[in-house]
Amino acid sequence: MTKIILIRYGDITLKGKNKKSFIDTLVSQIKHRLTPYTINYDHAHNRLYLHIQDKDIEIITKELQAIPGIDSFSLVQQVELEVESIYQATRQEIKQYQDSSLTFKIKTKRTNKHFPIRSMELSRTLAGKLLKEYTHLSVDVHNPDCLLEIEIRSKYAYIFSKKIPGLGGFPTGTIGKGYLLLSGGIDSPVAGFLAMKQGIAIEAFHFESTPMTSIESAQKVVDIAKVLARFAPKSTLKLHLVPFKAIHETIIQNIPEPYHITIMRRMMLRFIEEKAEQTHTPTIITGESIGQVASQTLESMKVINAITNRPIIRPLATLDKKDIIAIARKINTYDIAIRPFEDCCSIYLPKQPSTNPRVFYALRYERLFNYKEHLKTMEKDTITLSITPTTNLDLPSLGFTVSEALKGGKP
Ligand code: ATP
Ligand code: MG
Repeated sequence: MTKIILIRYGDITLKGKNKKSFIDTLVSQIKHRLTPYTINYDHAHNRLYLHIQDKDIEIITKELQAIPGIDSFSLVQQVELEVESIYQATRQEIKQYQDSSLTFKIKTKRTNKHFPIRSMELSRTLAGKLLKEYTHLSVDVHNPDCLLEIEIRSKYAYIFSKKIPGLGGFPTGTIGKGYLLLSGGIDSPVAGFLAMKQGIAIEAFHFESTPMTSIESAQKVVDIAKVLARFAPKSTLKLHLVPFKAIHETIIQNIPEPYHITIMRRMMLRFIEEKAEQTHTPTIITGESIGQVASQTLESMKVINAITNRPIIRPLATLDKKDIIAIARKINTYDIAIRPFEDCCSIYLPKQPSTNPRVFYALRYERLFNYKEHLKTMEKDTITLSITPTTNLDLPSLGFTVSEALKGGKP
């Protein structure tokens, strides 16, 4: 048996001229994600109809709920353009509701003006027939339990009463590109997800300090990238592992403790800024959330931000931790993020990090070591991986450091 799913695009419809390319991108992303299934695609009137196999409904529904740019979708009945067939379909809809008393409303949309009965009239006729046949039904036009929608289109009529919400946003990649600062924590994966949902294709950068930090902390990031890849175009996410140990140690040895985190962040940003300039990548995304830790006071953010004029997108800036955790759980990054391994910013955490740093001092401290040399080496030794949801990579079994693991095992 086949079933039909109607997909609605939501936000994309606001985009005027870009609309066609947005829709083409979304459709190709849907097709990519649903490759394993037998589906017949029918594209009409800014709507997409998927003719799917009955047995695949559950899994396809799950997939569709994770594709940015889909506003909502419904399981629909497709019937001939004649009243009796439409009525039989409305009966089928009503039967899905087990309630002993049910209020309903019928809403008809007639884009096919050749269909001889006007929308209001058709709604009224069908409602009258339903009321006559089922005594447990009554009409409520303001707040019905069941909103029965009928769309009269050129070839067929479509009937549905349930809308499954999608992610909304824009198809990933249609708004542009961004570089995500990805740690192994709870926040930055959520920030990356929200940026992708809003149409930004991301590449992730992780600054890793193995063997000062454990290889397991780098594994966390690989595992998080696998989860995030699900939302990326072609389900592939580039992950750059940037060796941070040398500069990390230099900072700890040369710079007053309250400024350790500030300078580490500024170095990460200096690195990213240069890369973004070379590759014309307009924006940087972080998981910063105002006030969460010392490095995220407004003053700290100002000093860290002073490295770049590029917009830094902080999707979590004003979210509470509990709201961030709720999203992390929903996208399945939470359980990975709470695995107990330190990353570069949580190991050797300064006892009293500055909550009120100054650009003047940051610049002065940065003159105490040759960071330009460090940044060059970091760039040369960066390892880039193309991660997909099925990437099979077990760093701890391969080596002590990321570099050893990925360049042929322990020395
Ligand atoms: P997260 O949970 O994302 O680690 P956090 O609340 O622990 O965030 P911080 O450790 O202060 O916050 O980091 C702030 C942001 O800086 C992170 O969200 C991330 O975008 C970036 N960041 C921190 N450490 C790293 C790292 N090692 N590599 C890449 N980005 C990092
Ligand atoms: Mg962190």
